[in-house]
Amino acid sequence: MFLGKQLPFLRWSFIRLGLGMKRLTTEWQVGDGREEACAKYVLANARPGDIDDAIRAIDEFAYKKKFLINVGDEKGAIMDRAFDGAKARCAMELGAYVGYSALRIARRLPAGGKLYSIEFNAANADIVRRILAHAGAEDRVTVVHGFLGDNGATINRLKKEIASGQLDFVFVDHAKDEYLPDLKRLLETGWLRPGTVVVADNVRFPGAPEYRAYMDAEEGRRWRTVAHEAHAEYQTLIKDVVLESTLIR
Ligand code: MG
Repeated sequence: MFLGKQLPFLRWSFIRLGLGMKRLTTEWQVGDGREEACAKYVLANARPGDIDDAIRAIDEFAYKKKFLINVGDEKGAIMDRAFDGAKARCAMELGAYVGYSALRIARRLPAGGKLYSIEFNAANADIVRRILAHAGAEDRVTVVHGFLGDNGATINRLKKEIASGQLDFVFVDHAKDEYLPDLKRLLETGWLRPGTVVVADNVRFPGAPEYRAYMDAEEGRRWRTVAHEAHAEYQTLIKDVVLESTLIR
């Protein structure tokens, strides 16, 4: 147990992340090259063709080198359990960042299963593709550079590949203000079906209050939600909540 695991706030990389927060929440990179450094670290330190080792290397980079806004190991395990409960063959994630959650989902997909990973930042999408290729998971994951709120461009592109009712699992971990608008866009596509599980990260920290209020209002009506208490990624002081919501109808 090293100090950084408990107190990343005292580390320069965390302070630097704070300084880069405005850029991070508009461009999805901190601005000091840490996302590219993470890709190089994984390619240099993880065994090729080994998804588990790529995940381990990203966690190691985030704990020991530079703090990253991945879902992390603690909340990642919550996502894993929700994914298993959904028995998913076809999944989507909103916000890939460096590909950490994509790797966690890819290693649990059954043979022939597919993940569509939507990433706003082109450089991040490229990092994700390189890490997935190194881990041998590129055939299971389609990395899409775009976002669902781009007046239909990304959704229309994906409609050629994703059929109605085909999405079994969705992981939401991108712009917090876009959680609810994008969930509604997904409902409009018809890709979700009764039983589809949607997992949302960072509902308490930094927080997605509109999304949470919507799920509270829809409880037992359109959605059934379980709130998982956890901590924000890669430390144990800031609390966070992961919402696991199952579509009823
Ligand atoms: Mg997150």
